[in-house]
Amino acid sequence: MEKKNIDWANLGFGYMKTDYRYVSDYTNGAWDEGRITDDDMITMSECAGVLQYAQTVFEGMKAYTTEKGETVVFRPDLNAARLADSARRLEMPVFPEERFLDAIDKLVKANLAWVPPFGSGATLYIRPYMFGINPVIGVKPAEDYQFRAFATPVGPYFKGGAKPLTIKVSDFDRAAPNGTGNIKAGLNYAMSLHAIVTAHNEGFAENMYLDPKTRTKVEETGGANFLFVTKDGKVVTPKSDSILPSITRRSLLYVAKEYLGLEAEEREIEFTELKDMAECGLCGTAAVISPVGKIVNHGEEICLPSGMDEMGPVTKKLYDTLTGIQMGRIEAPKGWIRVIE
Ligand SMILES: *Cc1c(COP(=O)(O)O)cnc(C)c1O
Repeated sequence: MEKKNIDWANLGFGYMKTDYRYVSDYTNGAWDEGRITDDDMITMSECAGVLQYAQTVFEGMKAYTTEKGETVVFRPDLNAARLADSARRLEMPVFPEERFLDAIDKLVKANLAWVPPFGSGATLYIRPYMFGINPVIGVKPAEDYQFRAFATPVGPYFKGGAKPLTIKVSDFDRAAPNGTGNIKAGLNYAMSLHAIVTAHNEGFAENMYLDPKTRTKVEETGGANFLFVTKDGKVVTPKSDSILPSITRRSLLYVAKEYLGLEAEEREIEFTELKDMAECGLCGTAAVISPVGKIVNHGEEICLPSGMDEMGPVTKKLYDTLTGIQMGRIEAPKGWIRVIE
């Protein structure tokens, strides 16, 4: 496979139009057979449900080339299941999970020339999504939907090493109890934009959101789950019904227990406990783990002992092990790696 002539190592995280995308339409209560197309444009009614009432859900995942030269995707079955959960919460039809996997296979295969080569640090980011497409003016779910998946190459997340971030405790809330914080929907991001722009203007990389009801417990950031390491070497991550169940975070917890022999648990984490933590990281598909060095709450600074120069030692081990599994250097648990044949 002749790869595209791209300076992979210097790619950023942005959209680049690739050759093919996958599309399936839902009309008259059924999904059609789906197709690969080179048409990147969508034509829809000015009154489409997605445009009026934000009825849209999405996923994010990566394809990449392993050391052995295989093109693989990491745990896409979990993205399929999570998209189905998100769709149900927004009264959208579920795109069948086995069809989701087939769509990803076809999309990646059609765009093999865009999958960055092994060692470049770059990956092919895949964005599956679906939305209500027919006219909706009275508030109700749409009747017709479109599922799409496109791919775009993205550069190495950390150019020149992962520098620990400084984040702030946000005065805004991300997700209400019994709300939609646990699904991957555009609506959760629309309302986070003002909070993240505010944080950036104040010089912070990210927001830490607290639980809106009591504002005493740690939830997550706008797009990544928290993972902490306690001073006695235990890996802990917040448990809450209003955080998005990150596939990276769930995988890291498994790696901590089964590969590194660490104690790992999901439990409620009080903000007041953070001053006693040894390490902190943000987990998500984009970066796997971004280390956090400092958390600021209205002038009060919590400086993680791991410091501002590099990832903490346990975070680093987790990062190296999971990326080793993804890249085929370390044997993966059964079912974690889907090879695109
Ligand atoms: C996508 C997302 C994450 C990270 O999930 P991964 O499956 O690990 O990529 C975390 N939090 C939010 C709010 C998200 O939308």
